[in-house]
Amino acid sequence: MIAPSTPVRFLQGVGASRAKTLEEYGLTTAADLLWFFPFRYEDRRHPTHIADLGHHIEEAVLVRGRIISANSKVSPVKRMKIFEAVLEDDSGAVKLVWFNQPFLSDQIKRGDRLAVFGAPKLSNYGNLQIESPDWEKFEGDEEDEGAIVPIYSRIGNIPPKALRRIVAASFHSLPALEDPLPEDIRETLHVGPLASALEQLHRPRELDDDFLWRRSPAHRRVILQEFFTFQLALRVRRAREEVKKKTRKIGVDDAMRAEVRKILPFKLTRAQKRVVKEIVDDLQSDRPMYRLLQGDVGSGKTIVALIAALIVIRNGHQVALLAPTEILVEQHFQRISQLLDHSVVLAKATGSATSGERRTLHAGLRDGFVQLVVGTHALLEEKIEFKSLGLAVVDEQHRFGVEQRQRLFAKGETPDILVMTATPIPRSLALAIYGDLELSVIDELPPGRQAIKTAVRASTQLERISRFIEEEIASGAQIYVVYPIIEESEKLNLKPLKQGFEAIRVRFPNRQIAMLHGRMSPADKEATMQRFKAGEIDILVSTTVIEVGIDVPNASIMLIMDADRFGLSQLHQLRGRVGRGAKKSYCILVSDKEKDRLDLFAETRDGFEVAERDLQLRGPGEFLGTRQSGALRFRMGNIVRDHELMERARDTAIGVLGRDGVTRAEELARRLLGAEMTVARD
Ligand code: ADP
Ligand code: MG
Repeated sequence: MIAPSTPVRFLQGVGASRAKTLEEYGLTTAADLLWFFPFRYEDRRHPTHIADLGHHIEEAVLVRGRIISANSKVSPVKRMKIFEAVLEDDSGAVKLVWFNQPFLSDQIKRGDRLAVFGAPKLSNYGNLQIESPDWEKFEGDEEDEGAIVPIYSRIGNIPPKALRRIVAASFHSLPALEDPLPEDIRETLHVGPLASALEQLHRPRELDDDFLWRRSPAHRRVILQEFFTFQLALRVRRAREEVKKKTRKIGVDDAMRAEVRKILPFKLTRAQKRVVKEIVDDLQSDRPMYRLLQGDVGSGKTIVALIAALIVIRNGHQVALLAPTEILVEQHFQRISQLLDHSVVLAKATGSATSGERRTLHAGLRDGFVQLVVGTHALLEEKIEFKSLGLAVVDEQHRFGVEQRQRLFAKGETPDILVMTATPIPRSLALAIYGDLELSVIDELPPGRQAIKTAVRASTQLERISRFIEEEIASGAQIYVVYPIIEESEKLNLKPLKQGFEAIRVRFPNRQIAMLHGRMSPADKEATMQRFKAGEIDILVSTTVIEVGIDVPNASIMLIMDADRFGLSQLHQLRGRVGRGAKKSYCILVSDKEKDRLDLFAETRDGFEVAERDLQLRGPGEFLGTRQSGALRFRMGNIVRDHELMERARDTAIGVLGRDGVTRAEELARRLLGAEMTVARD
C-alpha cells in the first residue's frame, strides 16, 4: 500500500541512490511527488510527418521515426564537434544536428527509434534540419508513444523517462489522499476534489487552451487552494492580533481639533480628509490599527500621518516615524518642526548622531520626554526603547523588509501601525500581499499642481536639451539630473555618475553644480540637499537617492539618463520630484532603447496606471523588488494573472473566519499549510 506519506524509496523504480537524489531536491514522500508538477507538456499523439516539416520552419514540433544513419565529425570552419543523425519516418527523412555533444554517438545509434522535439530550419545549403532537439529513445514497451507526456524539471541525473515513471508510481497514493478542503469550502470556491486535480495535472487528457493557460478546473483547484491557504493564514494571524486589545484609550476633543486646524498650512483635500477620518477611527477603536496608506507622489501623505501623530501624542503616548534615508528624515524633521513650532518634543534618530546625542535620545524616549521621533534604521536599534509607543508610522514602506517593520512594531505594546507608500499598488496585488492590512487611498492631488510635461529623447539630442536647460536656469529653474545607479545594489559603481558630473560641469561652466549619492557622508548629503533647497545649486547630479520623498518646489526639470534602465514606477517616483511649485515642469527621459515602453510612460500621468503597466511588463517579482517577491512564491498561482481567484479566496477566507471562528479556521489553516508546504511570507 502506498500512502501520500510513504517515503520515496518505497516507490517502484527508486533505489537508495535515487531516493537520495530526490530528497536533495525536497522530494521525500509520495505526496511531494504529487505536488511536483510538470513545467510543460508534449503532445506526442500527433507527431508531424517529416514530409510536412517545411510548413513548420522555426516552430517546435514533434517528429518520430527511426535513425538510419549517425556519425560524428569536426566542423572544418569552427573546429566544433558535430554529431549528425538522419531520422526517417514513413513520409521522409530529416537531418538532426547537435553541437559539442560528442557523447551522443554512444547514445544514439542506427536503428534506434527516437522522438524528437525541436524547430526545423533551413541550413546554409538550403536543406531542412533540426538543430539540438530534445530527444528521447523508445525502448522496450514504447510507453509514451501516442500520449501527452508531462515534462518535469531535471532532478539530478535521473533520466527524464525514469523520473516520469517514479512520479507515476506516486499516483498509487491518490486513493488514500485526504482532501484538506472540506466539502462546503470546495463548494464556495467552486472547485472539485484534490486527488483528481493532481492526477489531471500530471496526465491531462487534453491540452486545450484552458489547460495550457492554467485555467482548467485542475489548475483552478490547486491555485485556489494555494491562495485560500495564504489568505486564511493571514486572516487567522490578524484575528489573533485583533484579540489583543489595546490598553490605551485614545480620544479626540475640541482642543485637539483646534490644534490640528492651527498647524494646517492649507486646506486638506477631500481624499486627505477621508483618510484622516479612517485613521482616527482606527486610533479610537480598542483594537490595534494595521493600515496601509497609498497615495501617489505628492498627494500629501505626510500631513495625514502628522495629524494622527498629534492625536496620539495629546493622549499621552509617543510616535515613531521611520523613513528610508537620512535626507528624507531630515526633510520630515524640518517640515514637522516648522508646522508644530515647539508644541511637541521632536527628536531625530540617524546613524550619524554622536554618542552623546544618542544617549540623550535614548533617555528621552525611555522616560517619555521625547514625544515624536523621526528616524532611519537607527530607530530599530535595540537600545531604542519607548515609554509608551502608541503609533508607528513607516514612510515609503516598500523600502523596508517585513522583519525591519516588525522590529519597530515590537517596540510598543500593540502600537497602532500606519505604513505609507507612494508606489501605488494595484488593488489585486495589494490584496495578495497585504491581505491582512486595511487599505486607505489618497486618490487626489492637492490643488494647483502643475501638469508635468514628459518627453522621450535620444542621446543625440543632448545638446538641444542642454540649451533648453540653460534657458530654464536663466529664468530661475533648478534641475535634477539622474543617472541609473540603483543605490541598493551591492556594487555601487559611481563612475558613470562622476563622468556625467564632469561633462555637465564642462557644459555649464557658469552654473553651480553638485553631486549627490549614497556613498557620501550623511553630513555631506545633508549639506548638499540644503544648498539645493536654498537655491544655491542649479543642477543636482544624482543617483536614485533622490527617488524617494524629496520636496524642492523650485526644481522644475527632471532629466533622467538611460531612462530605459528604470522601471516605470521608479520613473514615476522620479518624475514626482518636479511639478511641485509654480514653474512649468518637465521630465525628460534620455534613452536610445525601449522607446515604446518609455512613450507609454510619457503618456501616463496617474501613478496607479503606471503601476498596472509596470506590473504587466515586469511581473510582480521585479515590480515589488526582491524584498517583497518572497511573499508571492506560489507554486501554481500567479497573482497578476489570477487576481480574481485571489479575491475569491480572500472572500472565502473571511467567510470561514466569520462563520467558524478563529479556532477552527486556524486548525484548517494548519492542515492546509501541512498539505501544501509552499506558501511563505518573507
Ligand atoms: P507625499 O504623499 O509624496 O509624501 P508630501 O506629504 O510630501 O507628499 O506632500 C507633498 C507636498 O504637498 C508638500 O509640500 C505638502 O506640504 C503639500 N501638500 C500636502 N497636502 C496639501 C494640501 N491639501 N494642499 C496643498 N498642499 C498640500
Ligand atoms: Mg512622502
